Amino acid sequence: MNTGNYNKFCETVNARLTRAKKIVILSHVNPDGDAVGSSLALCHFFANAGYSSDVVFPNEYPDFLKWMPGSRDTVIHSRRKKLAEKIVMEADLLFMLDFNTSDRAGKLAELIKEASAFKVIIDHHPNPDGFADAILSNTKASSTAELLYRYMELSGGNDYIDSRVSECIYAGIMSDTGSFSYNSSEPETYRVLSELLKNGIDKDAIYSNVYDNYSENRMRLLGFCLDKKLVVLHEYGAAYMSLSLSEKENHKYIRGDAEGFVNYPLSIKGIDFAAFFMENDDHVKLSFRSKGAFDTNKFASENFDGGGHLNASGGESKLSLKDTINKFISVLPKYKTGRLPDK
Ligand code: 5GP
Ligand code: MN
Repeated sequence: MNTGNYNKFCETVNARLTRAKKIVILSHVNPDGDAVGSSLALCHFFANAGYSSDVVFPNEYPDFLKWMPGSRDTVIHSRRKKLAEKIVMEADLLFMLDFNTSDRAGKLAELIKEASAFKVIIDHHPNPDGFADAILSNTKASSTAELLYRYMELSGGNDYIDSRVSECIYAGIMSDTGSFSYNSSEPETYRVLSELLKNGIDKDAIYSNVYDNYSENRMRLLGFCLDKKLVVLHEYGAAYMSLSLSEKENHKYIRGDAEGFVNYPLSIKGIDFAAFFMENDDHVKLSFRSKGAFDTNKFASENFDGGGHLNASGGESKLSLKDTINKFISVLPKYKTGRLPDK
């Protein structure tokens, strides 16, 4: 690891921090566990060091992330538009976590480009678009939360990493690695985890808060998807599921209910690429997951204006659900050479 760059980053950012009057922390649209965990961890870290900050998200995040300390004080742009915009425009130091292209800020994308604040990115996605003034980027990191921990300790802030900060960082790492089943082969990740455990976190409780808090409806929706909606394309080692607006309505769907469904087809023997298509009011949200070398980031960016990581990416489609799925099936042969079906 090139700690030289990390040190330079910390120096630059911390010089700004001591002068900053309004510190704002922002993460990406459809915030996930890493986005929420990282943002709240940084907010608590700053508070412990005597700096107050506001946390803003472009839109809502699922209920299973709302147990995190500080969750109630976050400002959601889709709910409190004027307030969120005022906070971002008045910031003089803006931390953007877990994204590296302005379009990932959703409806705040234009605003962050215009904002006069000194802009800092901490992120682990490939291909940053260079709109920030300082960037800490490492695609080998399991999560933004892991990188954030590095920033905190290299800034000499060990005393400010309390159990709240540690819980949020742990939740971020756990979420982005599917509880350490992918994106988590670097020893550095486990060094950080071991430090977090020393801070007295209850890792089993964090797991339960995130993964054992679903509704009965969600469980039945999963059953429906696996039973009725799973399509397996053995010849391409691929599988997908989809949910239409009416199916969501029939199952009393609420935000987050289909979180993680995309991973299930990967446990079928011979399947190394899985997709999930979710119909929303004005677009179809796509999620891609893979095992091994199949590059979902390439697939998402070349076909669906999306992106992400090697093994986990997403995108959006303005086509109908049916046309989106047809497009997926039609481009698949370019990426996956057909092979003999499993016996
Ligand atoms: P998910 O499938 O959980 O929504 O997203 C998986 C990964 O893909 C995350 O790292 C997320 O940041 C990225 N991702 C999801 N949707 C989009 C998108 O529309 N555009 C880009 N560039 N990345 C996305
Ligand atoms: Mn992440």
